[in-house]
Amino acid sequence: MQSPHHPQVSRRNDGRWVLNCPECQLDSCNRAVPIGIGLPVESEYIALRLQENHVGPTRRQRSVQAALRPGS
Ligand SMILES: [Zn+2]
Repeated sequence: MQSPHHPQVSRRNDGRWVLNCPECQLDSCNRAVPIGIGLPVESEYIALRLQENHVGPTRRQRSVQAALRPGS
């Protein structure tokens, strides 16, 4: 099995959204960060789609719930 990734969607100060993945970004010394990771996008919808694509369908529900977790 692949090691799990836990990308998180967050909102930037400029109002755009960005998907960060600690598992990928810890590895950034080899420039292997996938497209979309750490890249600001115009909408939360796009960021969530990138997140889905990154974690794959089997983890989608859990990840979306994490992204929508109240209290932010
Ligand atoms: Zn990742």
